[in-house]
Amino acid sequence: SILGEYLPDFPIAEPKMVARLNANENPYGPAPQVVKAIAEAASTGNRYGHGDAATLIAMIAEKEGVTPDHIMLGPGSTDLLEKVAITRFKNGGNIIAADPSYMSLINTAEAMGGTWKPVPLTADYAHDLDGMEKAIDSDTKLVYVCNPNNPTGSITNTADLKKFCATASEKTPIFVDEAYLEFLDNPMSQSMVGLVAEGKDVIVARTFSKIHGMAGLRIGYIVATPERIESITSMVRSTMGLCVTSLKGAIASMKQDSFMAECRGYNSECRKFTHDAITSLGYDIIPSYTSFMIFPISMNGKQFMKSMYDSGVGIRVFNIQDKDWCRVSMGTKTEMEIFVETFKKVTA
Ligand code: PLP
Repeated sequence: SILGEYLPDFPIAEPKMVARLNANENPYGPAPQVVKAIAEAASTGNRYGHGDAATLIAMIAEKEGVTPDHIMLGPGSTDLLEKVAITRFKNGGNIIAADPSYMSLINTAEAMGGTWKPVPLTADYAHDLDGMEKAIDSDTKLVYVCNPNNPTGSITNTADLKKFCATASEKTPIFVDEAYLEFLDNPMSQSMVGLVAEGKDVIVARTFSKIHGMAGLRIGYIVATPERIESITSMVRSTMGLCVTSLKGAIASMKQDSFMAECRGYNSECRKFTHDAITSLGYDIIPSYTSFMIFPISMNGKQFMKSMYDSGVGIRVFNIQDKDWCRVSMGTKTEMEIFVETFKKVTA
């Protein structure tokens, strides 16, 4: 959940959902070759997947331009966000992160006894990097940067972020959550992973849940210096949480560049369609660089959420800066058409 989020206080009849636009899932995945690899892997389920994990780590390392000891896998990036939080905040300390941002790591840090020092996003919804740098003190255990950011869908300038990471990582590890990076037109040029290769204390998180369309299969990874990875794996296990079917699926998915390019294309088409339709109704959408978008609504958030779900359209609703907001994931074109029509009906 995200700070200020309204959680449904009514049962959600998932089978009745006609447009599932609440969890930033990829409606097209997994790629057919991935499904085939998973089916074939099922019969090897009597064995642990350490060998497959090593294969996947080697492929990821090559893609990211680092050696395998820079990579740690997890069942979804959530697992790694939590493991970093558990190992960094076991003796308390503070975490610096934007407000609003993605709360997983921050919530776990607080559960471990850490304190969140929120730094509001700038007026154009970028990270306030100067503000974050100033907030670092002797008790800071981690800075968390989500880029592009959830729930705003907004981006922080690459050059500015690189400079910030390079300098601030001298004082404390910088965690950069790049879950939505691959929806950008030229993703790798905007990644912070190059800083890890240079030996900076930067932890980059990626996931197979979004562009790969494998959210339910649970594979994610972090890229960090071997020392940083070792500081985590000395306390918690890495590959024990992974199943062979998902590993084999992820290995197959590493080769699906054209599938991912297609997903990126469909996503930006749907983004344009939805943006235009909602903007023409007079709403002000934060420009999105991701597979979801968010905008302030004029009706009561809880009532809006209930009416949308009653019509079978799953969305998320937040209260940010005293306004209620609708966050909608990009589904198929048909789902987006249903969203727009239902939105019109519900807000009429
Ligand atoms: N990070 C961000 C910014 C997300 O939005 C999400 C999921 O929506 C995650 C991490 C976690 O995803 P997963 O655990 O499926 O990799």
